Order: sequence, then structure tokens, then C-alpha cells
Amino acid sequence: MESTVAANIARVRNAIADAASRSGRAASDVRLMAVTKTVDDERIMEAIAAGVDMIGESYVQEAKRKIEKMGRRLEWHMIGYLQGNKAKYAARLFDMIHSVDRIELARELDRRAKAVGNVMKILIEVNISGEGTKSGVPYRDAMQLIRDVASLNNLSVQGLMTMPPWFDDPEDARPYFVALRELRDRVIDENLNRIEMRELSMGMSGDYGVAVEEGATIVRVGRTIFGERPS
Ligand SMILES: *Cc1c(COP(=O)(O)O)cnc(C)c1O
Repeated sequence: MESTVAANIARVRNAIADAASRSGRAASDVRLMAVTKTVDDERIMEAIAAGVDMIGESYVQEAKRKIEKMGRRLEWHMIGYLQGNKAKYAARLFDMIHSVDRIELARELDRRAKAVGNVMKILIEVNISGEGTKSGVPYRDAMQLIRDVASLNNLSVQGLMTMPPWFDDPEDARPYFVALRELRDRVIDENLNRIEMRELSMGMSGDYGVAVEEGATIVRVGRTIFGERPS
């Protein structure tokens, strides 16, 4: 019998395909990330068996254990707030870091990536709402941060990430996704050396359909696949 996790993933994939076609995009332009913070290994293995090839984790320690156990057959992405003193581990562990939001962190990651002979793929996390509790560079400072990061040779900026405030109605999140896409277009217009803008990491369980309609290339889905997390 198909597992619940596999059935949930199939439903999410269908919803992504529907949202993509509503906006004239190909479903293959959108990658599904399974967000596995607090999720046990068995259910992560079910997701992998169901074809998930990109995992998102929020805590370095938790991710380290899982990566060592489950290995590198798939991509591991860091999506949570990253403390400077964890940059050393993060630069070794992850395929991409979505949560770069300050130049000090970028410099530290650059130094650590250089030490292990790596070029670290990163996204710039943007706080569009300006909510003080959220991580992410403030919207008005994002362009300058991107210009500054462009000079760090062991980082490769691949795009932008955001997390809108929580809304009951996913339609309310749409302006935040539009704003991130428009920022991406402005960055592209600046034609910065070494800056790529192929990825828009946006959309979670409650709003990934709207995010895909607005151009998401990576959606980060946890609860809809694995159920509610322990609080
Ligand atoms: C936990 C988390 C998600 C997934 O949220 P769900 O509501 O479980 O889909 C996505 N992005 C980030 C940054 C997260 O911390």
C-alpha cells in the first residue's frame, strides 16, 4: 500500500502542476523541497522513496545527523536562521543555503567555503513585510547586500528566498511573492558580475500554489507532506 507520505507528495505535485499550468509555466520549472525539521528518519525515507530529491532543514545539528545517516544521494538545503558560529559546519554540509541575510554571515561562509575548496550556492533571504520577528535582509537593503556578496569568490548567489507573514487566506501572501519576483527582475537588470537569479524559493504548505503562480522555482513544503510538527 502507498504510504501516507507518498500520497501527500503525489497530491502536492498535482497541485504544483495545476498552479504552473494556470500561469503558463511548465511543472518541471518548479522543484519540490520536503521540509523535514523534527521529522523522523523513517518518514524522510518514505519521502525519498516517493522521489523527493531535495530536503530542507532548519537546524545545523539536526541536519548533520540526518545527512550522515541518509547520505548525499539527494540535495540538502539549509532554510533556517544561520548563526555565524555554525557557518563552518554549514559550508561543509549543505548543497545550498537559503537564509543568507547579512554581510557578516556571507563573509564567514565565503571564508569557510574557501577553506574546504568549495563554492557555496546561496540564496539571499529577504524580509519583505518588515516584521521584526522574521529573519531576512530588509527589502530596501537587499540590493546593496547582493552587490556586496557579488565580490565574494567562494559564494555563488543563485537567487532569492522569502517567507511572508502567516495568513489564513493564501491570496494575502500574493503581494509578497510578487515583490520578490520584481526584486529579482531588478537584480537581473543590474547585470551584476557572478550573480545568478535562477531561483525564487517561496511558498510553504499554506500558500505554495499562489507562489508557483507568481514564479516560484522551489517550494518548501513540510506539514502538508508530513503532518503537523510537535509544538
Ligand atoms: C518550516 C519551514 C517551511 C515549511 O513550512 P510548512 O508550513 O510546514 O510547509 C518552509 N520554509 C521555512 C523557512 C521553514 O522554516
